[in-house]
This record gives sequence, structure tokens and C-alpha cells, in this order.
Amino acid sequence: MPEFVGLIGYPLRHSLSPRFQQAALDYYGLDICYQAWETAPEELEITIARLKEPQNLGANVTVPYKEAVLPLLDQVDRLASLIGAVNTIVNRNGSLWGYNTDAHGFMKALTKQGDFEADGKKVAILGAGGVARAVGFALVKGKAASLLIANRTLERSQALAGSLRHYISQSELETEVRVLTWPSLASSKVFYDCNLVVNCTTIGMKYGSLEGQSPLSIDVIPERILVYDLIYNPYPTPLLHLAREAGANILGGLPMLVYQGAASFELWTGEKAPIDIMYNKAEEMLLGGER
Ligand code: NAP
Repeated sequence: MPEFVGLIGYPLRHSLSPRFQQAALDYYGLDICYQAWETAPEELEITIARLKEPQNLGANVTVPYKEAVLPLLDQVDRLASLIGAVNTIVNRNGSLWGYNTDAHGFMKALTKQGDFEADGKKVAILGAGGVARAVGFALVKGKAASLLIANRTLERSQALAGSLRHYISQSELETEVRVLTWPSLASSKVFYDCNLVVNCTTIGMKYGSLEGQSPLSIDVIPERILVYDLIYNPYPTPLLHLAREAGANILGGLPMLVYQGAASFELWTGEKAPIDIMYNKAEEMLLGGER
């Protein structure tokens, strides 16, 4: 009897996960099928309830349900609860456990592909949505010296800063967290002593309404810093293109996508994820124009 893992989101048109996850499952010869479970909002509860059936090992969760699934689960791991978002569900004998592997994927790509250690560094985060929350907690746990958070909707960046400061106050960590207004990103002084800028917005994403746009202009990007755009399609994004012209180092979102998927794979199967196979399949799909 085959077993199943699914991707739950709406819509799911452009996701790479089904193909690169299936390549990893096939590598181990596992009789597990990774399927795209496109789920309209009124179907979310029933889709999550069906996950408890024994043939279902679990699921990935993507936009727009990473926050909405939390109350539908039996257990949510501490990091996912702090972040307030779940991207991985594991079915353990009919009990659904929620995890967030975005934080791990972000950090692993930053250190490995970006060759960047967060410890002691000054970082700016653009955006305050689901993935920005994962990035914020990952950087605080990684002992960044300071975080500047700028989001179009100020209340959302204030809420993220509040959650991070609360977490910092209850731990041994010392990251300084500040909020910037979105219009202040137009000033060339904002990033002058930053080591890293992370784009966690949808600005520049292929197929989105902001395709072809950049959240920053070239004259505010200092040379030699690292600019990390979590968007993986296109590569380079308009922001990364400008950053390269400005003399900065750049990192795209594909390595993070693969590392977060690899961590999910390990939670479902207990096997070590074949990273190279997953990465090559994802890259092949992107370069081949399949997405
Ligand atoms: P989300 O929760 O919907 O957040 C979207 C963010 O974009 C918010 O900060 C939003 O600001 C901002 N935004 C949207 N339109 C804007 C505009 N016109 N001007 C300024 N800001 C705007 O989405 P998410 O899940 O955090 O994902 C964000 C991006 O990260 C997406 O492009 C996604 O593909 C990427 N991502 C990549 C990975 C990976 O593995 N590489 C993983 C997760 C996400 P407001 O709060 O003002 O609306």
C-alpha cells in the first residue's frame, strides 16, 4: 500500500516541492507519493483531518495557511509556536505535530551558500509576513547584534519586533531590535553599517503582481554587504541584479527552499535527505522553465 505526503496551499500552480520531494523519496525507493493537495479555504479543516488517516505521513503547508493550521493541530513544536507559523505537519499515529523548517532552511543556506555567520552581525529585514517571522527568530537565535525591520504595514513590523524582544528578554540573547518605516528605505544612510539585507517581501516574485520590481534602489545598497533575496524565481531577482551592480554579494532563495524541504523530508521519513538530488531537481525545473 503506498503512503502519501502532500503540499497544502492555495493556489499551488508554481510550487517546485512536489517534484524535488518525489526525487528524494524515489532515491530511497520508498513507496511514498508526494502530491499537491490544492485546498480552498472552506476545505482546510477537512484536509487537515484527513491527514490523520494511517496512509498519510504528513504534509507541507504553504501560502496562505501557515498560520491558519496551528489551531487544527494536536501539538506544535516550540520554535513553530514562537514564529506563529507551521510549514510541516507529521502524522504520528493519528496525532498531528506541527513544525517550522523555514528558519532552519534560511540559516543553513546563509551559512553554507552565503558563507555568512550571523553572530555579531547587523541585519536589515524587509517584510514582516510569515517568512520574515521565521527569519527574525533564526537571526536572534544565531546571535545577530542587531535587526532593523521595515515593512509596508508598520503594525506588522511592530508586532514582529515585539515578539522578538519578548523572546530575547526571556533568554540569554542580546540582539537589539528596531523598526523602520517603509519610506525610510529610500534613504542612502539606512544600510551604511549593515552586513546583511534580507528580502522577505513578495516584491520581484515571478508571476506575482510585483514581478520586475525591486524593494530597494541601487543607490541605497552599500558595496560588499550580502543581499539575500528569499524569492527563488526568477534568479537573479531585480533586487539581486541591482545589488550585484552595486558591488554587493548576493544569495537567492533556492538553497533555502531545498534545505527547508530537506528538513521536512527527514521529519516524515527518518532518512537523511539527499540534498544534492533535491537541489539538482529543483534547479533543473527552474532553469528548464518548467516554473
Ligand atoms: P506573506 O506572509 O504574504 O508576506 C508578504 C510580505 O510582502 C509582507 O511583508 C508584505 O507587506 C510584503 N508586501 C507585499 N506586497 C507589497 C508591496 N506592494 N510593497 C511592499 N511590501 C509588500 O508571505 P511570506 O510567506 O512571508 O513570503 C514572502 C516571500 O518569501 C515570498 O516571495 C515567498 O516566495 C518567499 N519565501 C521563500 C522561501 C524559500 O524557501 N526560499 C520560503 C518562504 C517564503 P504587508 O505586511 O504590508 O502586506
